[in-house]
Amino acid sequence: GGEGPVMLRTCRVLYSQAGPSAGGWQPLNFDGGAFHLKGTGELARALLVLRLCAWPPLVTHGLALQAWSQRLLGSRISGALLRASVYGQFVAGETAEEVRGCVRQLQTLGLRPLLAVPTEEEPDSAGGWEAGRKGLCSLQASRGPLALPPTAPLQKELTSWVTRPGASLELSPERLAEAMDSGRNLQVSCLHAEQNRHLQAALRRLHRVAQHARAQDVRLLVDAEYTSLNPALSLLVAALAARWNGPGEGGPWVWNTYQAYLKDTHERLGRDAEAAHRAGLAFGVKLVRGAYLDKERAVAQLQGTEDPTQPDYEATNRSYSRCLELMLNQVSCHGPMCHLMVASHNEESVRQATKRMWELGIPLDGPVCFGQLLGMCDHVSLALGQAGYAVYKSIPYGSLEEVIPYLIRRAQENRSVLQGARREQDLLSQELRRRLLGGGPRLRH
Ligand SMILES: Cc1cc2nc3c(=O)[nH]c(=O)nc-3n(C[C@H](O)[C@H](O)[C@H](O)COP(=O)(O)OP(=O)(O)OC[C@H]3O[C@@H](n4cnc5c(N)ncnc54)[C@H](O)[C@@H]3O)c2cc1C
Repeated sequence: GGEGPVMLRTCRVLYSQAGPSAGGWQPLNFDGGAFHLKGTGELARALLVLRLCAWPPLVTHGLALQAWSQRLLGSRISGALLRASVYGQFVAGETAEEVRGCVRQLQTLGLRPLLAVPTEEEPDSAGGWEAGRKGLCSLQASRGPLALPPTAPLQKELTSWVTRPGASLELSPERLAEAMDSGRNLQVSCLHAEQNRHLQAALRRLHRVAQHARAQDVRLLVDAEYTSLNPALSLLVAALAARWNGPGEGGPWVWNTYQAYLKDTHERLGRDAEAAHRAGLAFGVKLVRGAYLDKERAVAQLQGTEDPTQPDYEATNRSYSRCLELMLNQVSCHGPMCHLMVASHNEESVRQATKRMWELGIPLDGPVCFGQLLGMCDHVSLALGQAGYAVYKSIPYGSLEEVIPYLIRRAQENRSVLQGARREQDLLSQELRRRLLGGGPRLRH
């Protein structure tokens, strides 16, 4: 439209000093060149595990297979096998020391940790946040951001409250933020005593988590979930943001996650960015495609409601690309008041982001960073890290018993992603073949 270019031109001022360097745009190579940083054993394990995960029966019957192997091999041997494979590939470890070791290893590769607290889908309402605190404490040295999964029962209740007539004014982010800060009891008239107590306890817990995180310079990135839960989550994030993302705080300290596979995300993102800007708040966004496609569609079909997701993969890609463009322009306009994590394994999206950052003169290690999962897509993460971008690997941690069911569930939700890791498998086997058959050192790009 007519406004776009004008906005762009005025916005460029903020980063004009960093402006595009001479010599044209140099695309990054995601051809496995950065694998030279990794040991042969690590590459072999990655190849084996990714191959296994792309095998549908293993993912479908993962839990049953785990139970069988425990019975046949005993829990010690079956545990050792899992540690050497899936657990070792995707999980940082169990103890604080193991997690610290993983963080150090990432740092030597030029990558940073994003601590993901592995809670099951329906933890008791206290579990998720308390686990978040534990993770936070166990990673004090890392000073990284923390991915914070929410607690489902609380959100379900809150979502129904938020959407109740008359509740919207009483449940405004500002009111919740005030209650959090003052510790005063918030009485919401449409809730009964028990629900009010539940809300109060949740706000107190949230406030403690945020206070603790802030004291450690750790940013909180709150995950997005199902559309049936997201309204409550967004309300809580807005309340936290009102309290912690204020001007002069050096934030954003609390970020929300936006899922591009939802039809209304681009519009909501634009609205929220504007609202944050008007309120003088810093704005932090983790941009993802979205992990719950099948479930969203199944629920919509069951309830006879409109499918909230994009009709096909290409439409999701277009949506992601538009959201990315919107956010990069916001960063370009508002500088450090606006932060973005490009949380994607998609090479096209990563390429688009790096290209636009260059065109808009956004510094490599500034308000825009990248996020990928531990053990996945290392050819993209390593290449980005080597080129000087800020790259976070999301690291779940926890005991084998806690984490394996979580991993299997995530693998089932992300079948298409694991199938899509084919290219990574090809690059891994190419590099391994070169090393084992002796092809001399690879030329570095
Ligand atoms: C650091 C990090 C944090 C994350 N946090 C969250 C989070 O908080 N909440 C969350 O929901 N997810 C989260 N995810 C997962 C994310 O949403 C994606 O599921 C995952 O990253 C795969 O998308 P991609 O962009 O990496 O790659 P791609 O493989 O290019 O994209 C796959 C994605 O495209 C979409 N898609 C595929 N087929 C279709 C279709 N037929 N129609 C419409 N869309 C389709 C789906 O969203 C699918 O997940 C996170 C991922 C990372 C790396």
